[in-house]
Amino acid sequence: MNTPLDFTTLPMRILMISSEANPFAKVGGLADAVPALAAELARQGHDVRLVIPRYADTDRDGAEPIAGPLGIPMARSEYWTEVLEAPLPQEDEHTPPVRVYMIEHLELFGGDAIYARPEGRESGKDLLRFGVLSRSAFQLCRKLNWYPDVMHAHDWPAAPALVYLKTVENTRPFDETAGVFSIHNLGYQGVFPLEALRHLPLNPGEMERAGLEDFGRVNTVKAGILCAELVTTVSPSYAHDIQQPEHGFGLDGVLRQRANDLFGILNGIDVSLWSPEHDALIPARFDDEDLRGKSECKTALQKRYRLPVKADLPLIGMITRLVDQKGIAELADPGYGCLPHLLDEHELQLMILGTGEPRYEERLTELASYYPNMVYERMFDEQLAHLIEAASDFFLMPSRYEPCGLNQMYSLRYGTLPIATATGGLRDSIVDADDLSGSGTGFLFDRCTPSAIQHGVERAIATYHGDPAKLDAMRRRGMRQDFSWRNAAREYERVYLRALQLRMRQ
Ligand code: ADP
Repeated sequence: MNTPLDFTTLPMRILMISSEANPFAKVGGLADAVPALAAELARQGHDVRLVIPRYADTDRDGAEPIAGPLGIPMARSEYWTEVLEAPLPQEDEHTPPVRVYMIEHLELFGGDAIYARPEGRESGKDLLRFGVLSRSAFQLCRKLNWYPDVMHAHDWPAAPALVYLKTVENTRPFDETAGVFSIHNLGYQGVFPLEALRHLPLNPGEMERAGLEDFGRVNTVKAGILCAELVTTVSPSYAHDIQQPEHGFGLDGVLRQRANDLFGILNGIDVSLWSPEHDALIPARFDDEDLRGKSECKTALQKRYRLPVKADLPLIGMITRLVDQKGIAELADPGYGCLPHLLDEHELQLMILGTGEPRYEERLTELASYYPNMVYERMFDEQLAHLIEAASDFFLMPSRYEPCGLNQMYSLRYGTLPIATATGGLRDSIVDADDLSGSGTGFLFDRCTPSAIQHGVERAIATYHGDPAKLDAMRRRGMRQDFSWRNAAREYERVYLRALQLRMRQ
């Protein structure tokens, strides 16, 4: 491949667009992944900037307005926004800054929710809100006289930026900017009624070229997939899974069309927060050479929840949103789920932390009141999450699908062996125990069904009682794995370079 420049020697200008970024705005894992990747790329020497909305709850401390209002041309009128600039909080002062630009517009982003409720989706207001956010990226670059080599749009809210890049903004100086689209969870696709297209500054020909329509509805993820030079998702296995009808949420055909341009890159985790050797949120620290602190954490959890303080009973932890994706029906649905069998038939302790659908919250409360060896905490509690990771022997993650998943990587670092469905990022980060060679870092089962989950848990318990030396070796092996963002950032660099080459050939 001949390219006019050797990009590998050049720092790149990278502009990311996202609806969420910690610590400014968070709903889910997207908010952790985007700034962590941005910071790591900055550490590698790139000039990385990030555009997000400023919501009502976004902290303005330390943010400075950039001079003058910014006009965003949309279909019918221009939206006048203010822009605040803040540095992304960094681990140490030697890390180069990532500039975060917050787009402020009272009517669009000043309400209390980051995403509209279903009624809002039907009115198409979110398409307008994030359509404006996406266009503001271009206007901001003009204002700053700073033009990116790569525009990296995350999930459905930022996908319109890639549509503009290939239509209304496909002119100098953006005609050399490469577009990269990242799918963090294909279950959320930015679907709106067709009338909502009236909000976007595009003519019918441009809308059609961008592929915005999908079976009589707008679908921004579909358009993002079609307009980007390259598409990424958050694990290699999920890149494979979403091309199958079972996990493609209706877009598997479009993804297969772009199979050669689709890359799965496993997310990293924030090891400054999640490392048992210096975690201030747990009662005792430990590492892969000395696991005594882990036993202390187990005792502390057993005492706190009045479970029998026994070192030789397997403690299984779970921290999860209580939604179908996470396999909660297969665990707990009356007459179907496997939890009652596991709790009846085995001597084990189970600790679940999670909130979500009320029917699941109620069912887990009911089970915990019946079984003395099960505890359920219906809350969101970061500190307790750290304690559960540190104290448990096993961590259960029976997801139906899992784009990447973070908890299994936290578990591995804390010497807590995951018991999980072999899907998406779980398959990529856990090595199934091999009974003959003794290798592996966890226990995988093929599908999320009650019997498969039960079998997975039983395999883990059998190893716990039958072969403690093997279990100990598995724990230490898991603790030594490197899940830092450095590896992921290097792969994104390669994707950016390839996207630039593709853009230059157009
Ligand atoms: P998802 O993003 O699909 O919910 P992940 O495993 O990728 O699943 O990330 C979930 C994150 O949210 C993890 O860091 C997990 O510890 C945290 N989490 C989920 N529920 C709770 C809770 N009730 N309390 C504390 N942390 C939680």
